[in-house]
Amino acid sequence: MRHAAIAPREEKKALGAEGNLFPQIKAIVPKEIKIEKLEAIGAGKIPLLVYATPKGRCSTFLSKALFLTCLESFLAIKQQKFCKVTGYEIRDLGVAMETETGKYFVVYSEIKSFLERYNRVGLDGLEVELTGISAVVRNGIKGTVTEVDKFGCNCADTIYRRTICKHQIAAGLHLTKLGFGSLGEYLKGREGTKWEDKFLAIKNC
Ligand SMILES: [Zn+2]
Repeated sequence: MRHAAIAPREEKKALGAEGNLFPQIKAIVPKEIKIEKLEAIGAGKIPLLVYATPKGRCSTFLSKALFLTCLESFLAIKQQKFCKVTGYEIRDLGVAMETETGKYFVVYSEIKSFLERYNRVGLDGLEVELTGISAVVRNGIKGTVTEVDKFGCNCADTIYRRTICKHQIAAGLHLTKLGFGSLGEYLKGREGTKWEDKFLAIKNC
């Protein structure tokens, strides 16, 4: 098994078609992964991901900064508001988190599913365009467009698997970069936006 060190997340700013700046996140691993195990290594409790790829098994250390970003992103989508994660503990059944507003526990299957999709955001080059009442997410590689609103996303992952999908993660990370804690907080400031604005924005994608 090969261990690969990973640098803290790097963002690059790219200029979108409409002149909007959108952040692109770097994939944790530059290929599709199926996570087998998440464990804490050593006295520093560094998160280690063990995963399967089309070319075999591998493992990668995550920086604590990246792992905290992932946990905060997960909570912001679940709760529709941002809360800073101040500590975590990787346990057998999941991840326990301490935040500024209380303690949370995420079961293992949910955090694995989330990290696999977080990785896909980077692989697929997802681009986010905010409308007044939602976030439109474009897959830069496949050219597909989905829409995330306060009820979730209209993709198969959300509708059939009832999981946090990559589009919700992309929208959440984009909003965090813009200074909004979550889509819910962004939308709260835009009540009264007309539905025509949404379709205008989708058309421009
Ligand atoms: Zn989706």
